[in-house]
Amino acid sequence: MTSEAMTTLDGTVARLQEVFSAAEPALTTLDEITGDGDFGVNLREGFSEVADRLAGPDAPAPWDTVRAVFLDEVGGTSGPLFGLLFQSLGTRAARSDSYVDALRGGISDGLAAIQRVGEAEVGDRTMVDALAPAVEALGADGDHVDAMVSAAVAGALSTAALRARRGRASYLGERAVGHPDPGAVGVALLLCVLAEPVSGTEKSKGERARLLDAVSGNA
Ligand code: ADP
Ligand code: MG
Repeated sequence: MTSEAMTTLDGTVARLQEVFSAAEPALTTLDEITGDGDFGVNLREGFSEVADRLAGPDAPAPWDTVRAVFLDEVGGTSGPLFGLLFQSLGTRAARSDSYVDALRGGISDGLAAIQRVGEAEVGDRTMVDALAPAVEALGADGDHVDAMVSAAVAGALSTAALRARRGRASYLGERAVGHPDPGAVGVALLLCVLAEPVSGTEKSKGERARLLDAVSGNA
């Protein structure tokens, strides 16, 4: 039996493909300034590979496909790190009927896994700067999904003022300063979409515009 939380999570996959396809140029621009330019394409192609696999006659389970594609196929530093986050979300969703609880547990476990592998702390200018405030905003109980989205977006935007200590951007020194970290922006976009089943599309749209305006304003 598929849990209610997993059914809801599965339902976000098509939206994720849509949103990351639309955001690809902005994310590419950002990674061209602060990295090597592959970040937006990696994410877009990852979700497009997921869509291809789901289109077949014996289509696999949607979220499990997202996990497998990002862990095993998507390149860059961020591909497998997103894979760990997707894996944690899937594990929690499979065990819960509450989608909000699955988000809380999955994002928190995902952050722990990403930090175990990548060893980044808050302030190092990575996706951790969007994830850690999201976990804090979700808290130990209750529905704080709106607050989570706002915290993730604020965390992502705050990376514009940071100098990178991890990943490729750490070789760039001051060049990256003034532009938000692509991985943090990607995570915030992801959380906007994951919040949609709870908070609706208007909140997500407003927060995504806030993020992407800042990106294009900087480019
Ligand atoms: P690459 O630099 O290998 O091309 P990507 O373009 O796929 O990597 O992803 C870049 C993003 O990965 C960065 O913007 C940052 O958010 C994230 N990142 C890099 N190193 C780490 C790390 N050690 N821990 C967490 N996130 C990281
Ligand atoms: Mg890159």
